[in-house]
Amino acid sequence: SSVWSHVEELPPDAIFLTKTLFNKDPNPAKVNLGIGAYRTEEGNPYILKVVRKVEREILDDVKLDKEYAPICGEPQYVHACQSVIFGKDAPVLKEKRAAGAQSLSGTGALRVLCEFLKVNFANSKVYLSKPTWGNHTKILLKSHLEEGTYRYWNAKGRNLDIDGMLEDLSKARPGDIVLLHACAHNPTGVDPTLDQWKQIASLLKKNKLIPFFDTAYQGFATGDLDRDAAAIRLFEKEGFDFVVSQSFAKNMGLYSERAGCATVVSQDPKLVSACQSQLEAVIRPMYSNPPRYGAEIVKRVISSPENFKLWKEEMTYMSGRIIKMRQLLRQHLEALKTPGTWNHITDQIGMFSFTGLTGIKINTSSFFFNTASQVDVMISKHHIYMLKNGRISMAGVTTKNVEYLARAMDDVVK
Ligand code: PLP
Repeated sequence: SSVWSHVEELPPDAIFLTKTLFNKDPNPAKVNLGIGAYRTEEGNPYILKVVRKVEREILDDVKLDKEYAPICGEPQYVHACQSVIFGKDAPVLKEKRAAGAQSLSGTGALRVLCEFLKVNFANSKVYLSKPTWGNHTKILLKSHLEEGTYRYWNAKGRNLDIDGMLEDLSKARPGDIVLLHACAHNPTGVDPTLDQWKQIASLLKKNKLIPFFDTAYQGFATGDLDRDAAAIRLFEKEGFDFVVSQSFAKNMGLYSERAGCATVVSQDPKLVSACQSQLEAVIRPMYSNPPRYGAEIVKRVISSPENFKLWKEEMTYMSGRIIKMRQLLRQHLEALKTPGTWNHITDQIGMFSFTGLTGIKINTSSFFFNTASQVDVMISKHHIYMLKNGRISMAGVTTKNVEYLARAMDDVVK
């Protein structure tokens, strides 16, 4: 027998599986609403014009070589990333109160920060919203951090369960960590209001909890980078020590370039170099140093006022198209008189909609009933690929497929 014979085969990743199944499906009407990636009106991937522009500049720049980047990436890159989070003239940057490292997009930032937290807060629990992005749980597990959860989604009202959230977090111990989606919560598309953020901040402060912001959709919620950073900036103003994981996959369309940033904010500037050294110590034995190409694109887009303006215009366009698709989908469902209420489609923000379609087999015991879940039927009968939890990526909806989608939803609900 082979040395590998005891190796157990594990199930494939749920989100990437939708892409594989979609690619295999020969039906021309198929729609992929599984993975969170922006699509044009024609349903194609989109490279931002400003990204193409700086890529040409990079290619022509004879000063650029292929030398190693520093372990934590170029400091100018890290500073550019942090200026997007906090604002260009933010005191936290002027006073040099943020350590930071280039990361392999948002996932890499989460993983590096979890390793950093495990080393320095070994006994802290990390609280995740219920539900959250599936990879959060896996990252905690790999970093050997204990997971806690807090209520978030109120299924009945299809909105935020703020009371449940505050109640669960009030049970956390001092030094525990709370992972918060900075905007465009994945998968629910439901964010706290500014007043609710203030309530959350005051509870975290009172109970000495450490905020951990995941910002993967800045600019995709409202189309405005500053508005989408309001929660993080509020916590900064409130004087927290906290960490931020940041991704440029969605808002700059750099999915495969893996450009992100891990930031540690310290109210005391004297502690920044210690935190920086710990980030280095995590990264060096993990992958040594980051790839430069994606970071070079991001740096050039952010640090040139002209490019920054072009970026913001394209972001407004992308998020605007998504908002329009939400309106169209709701209109079609209401015109079809699909049972239920559909205002949550337009109330939710960001890339995803938590449709309320169920992935759970409704009646598995009876031979006579159709036992497939609504999501199963969306996939098998209508060739619309989505997640078991009922999440669809609104970024994959277009004027050409929105009516087909609404009719399919109508069919599985009726
Ligand atoms: N965090 C959340 C909530 C996400 O939804 C995602 C991507 O789907 C990420 C982080 C990180 O993505 P990436 O590693 O592609 O930047």
